[in-house]
This record gives sequence, C-alpha cells and structure tokens, in this order.
Amino acid sequence: MMDFHKTKACQNCTISVPLEKVHLYPLTLNGGQISNLILCEKCYLEKKSIQQQSKIQDEKPKKTKPIYMHYFCEQCKYRFRIDENKLGVSKSLSCPYCGKGDKLSCAK
Ligand SMILES: [Zn+2]
Ligand SMILES: [Zn+2]
Repeated sequence: MMDFHKTKACQNCTISVPLEKVHLYPLTLNGGQISNLILCEKCYLEKKSIQQQSKIQDEKPKKTKPIYMHYFCEQCKYRFRIDENKLGVSKSLSCPYCGKGDKLSCAK
C-alpha cells in the first residue's frame, strides 16, 4: 500500500518528491509576505542559479560614474554640487539652501 502523505508534488515540474527530498524555496510576494514554494531538488537548484544570475545582472547598470556639476548661489552664497546623472531631462535647478533658482551660476 502506498502512503501518499509521504510525497509532495513539486510546484514547478509537478513531479512527486519524497518528503525528505523536498526543498522549500522562499518567494517574496508583491505584498512583501513570504510564501514557500515546494520544489524537487532539480528545480530548487535551477531557481537558485537563476536568482544568482539575475543578481549579477542587476548590479551592472549601477556603475554609472557621478558627474558632479558645481554651482554657486549668489543669493545666499551657498556652494553645492549636483550629480548630472540625477539631474534628469528638465535641468531645472534650485538652490538647496534658499530654494531659488534664478541666481545660480555654474562653476564647472
Ligand atoms: Zn521540480
Ligand atoms: Zn541659495
């Protein structure tokens, strides 16, 4: 007689896995809660390597070097610098100290 309680179905490939070989893969849902996926060993290792690969890919675009632009506010004599990458398309600047943008001079 087979005991069905001692196997779980892999949630990825639907193969029956003996309980002692079941791997739980924590999955973060959109709401931030964690749900455990029941996986066989093959799918578990697959998911893990995919996750590691995507982590490496995620890090690549962050390597943009900051281009600092130096500004001087004639209104309050405040000097500051702004990363040109974060400036965006609008290029509308205002002094972080007094909030005015019309008395700024660029001191590149
Ligand atoms: Zn599987
Ligand atoms: Zn200012």
